[in-house]
Amino acid sequence: MSPVTCHPSRILIVAPSWIGDTIIAQPLFMRLVERNPGCRIDVLAQPWVAPVLRAMPQIAEVIESPLRHGRFDLRLRWQLARRLAAGRYDEAIVLPNSWKSALMPFLAGIGVRTGFAGESRHGLLNRLHRLDTTALPRQVDRYAQLAQTPGEALRLPLPQPCLTRDPARETATLAALGLALAREPVVFCPGAEYGPAKRWPADYYAELARALAARNHAIWLLGSAADAPVAEQIVAASGGAAQSLCGRTSLAQALDLIGAARLVVTNDSGLMHVAAALGTPLVALYGSSSPDYTPPLSDKAAIIWRKPDCSPCFERVCPLGHFRCMRELTPDSVLQTATGKLADA
Ligand code: SF4
Repeated sequence: MSPVTCHPSRILIVAPSWIGDTIIAQPLFMRLVERNPGCRIDVLAQPWVAPVLRAMPQIAEVIESPLRHGRFDLRLRWQLARRLAAGRYDEAIVLPNSWKSALMPFLAGIGVRTGFAGESRHGLLNRLHRLDTTALPRQVDRYAQLAQTPGEALRLPLPQPCLTRDPARETATLAALGLALAREPVVFCPGAEYGPAKRWPADYYAELARALAARNHAIWLLGSAADAPVAEQIVAASGGAAQSLCGRTSLAQALDLIGAARLVVTNDSGLMHVAAALGTPLVALYGSSSPDYTPPLSDKAAIIWRKPDCSPCFERVCPLGHFRCMRELTPDSVLQTATGKLADA
């Protein structure tokens, strides 16, 4: 039976594996601190999301998980369980929906284990919330719900995610990469780990890069090594107006560059949520996905979504082949929104 009330002083969060989802979880952390003043929040997370958690003032410690997707290493799990048990947590809040993600708090003997019901997690979790997708359409609402008593209506509005900038590290990152702020840089995030259906076309990014460079902006392309090939296409098609940094920065350095930029133009991706949480003005380009589910949570964000009849399809690759959702979102229309944002900033 679930405890009815819970005011823990030591809380462990089991974090999602995606950068965007991890940022969207921050309003939950804010609500936990509000509800339990003086509590300590630690997070068990994959190493690649750790830099965003370290930029959240609500988090005391990030415990980097040695566990990897698709592997069930029992010895590593027992070692990790012992480490977590030593943390003497009163409550664990499990954000991913999988059975495996609920296992570690159970093995660590944490008394209250909170999360959404599903994937046979009864027993592993003992403070279960039932997910009402109609009442909670946005992912941010679903996470924040876990700060409340099961069955209680979510208190709205939620605070927005807010990452802390590190000015000294920004200066060091700019110097290390040989970059300067003189030409009011605009960052493009042309990747989307989920799949090509979320990516605005490279030739469109290139056209936008040429137009903004003609207005004397530097264009930096940010993303992972997996985004480097598409970034190179943009660099070539823009005639060198854009500069690719994809795969050349750590995530912490990407945070520094996005924090220092005048504007970010981005697909629906993890870096979009980074820009929103850093308070950098941004233009978010949606096609196959929906801003109703995971919008950028920032007053400085403009969303462009043409929404043909087939959108959102949430597919990784366009199943219809025409890719109208993104092809109809023209560089001219994005330029207009981008220049408006630059003028406001
Ligand atoms: S089916 Fe429609 S929404 Fe989905 S990727 Fe293709 S054009 Fe975009």
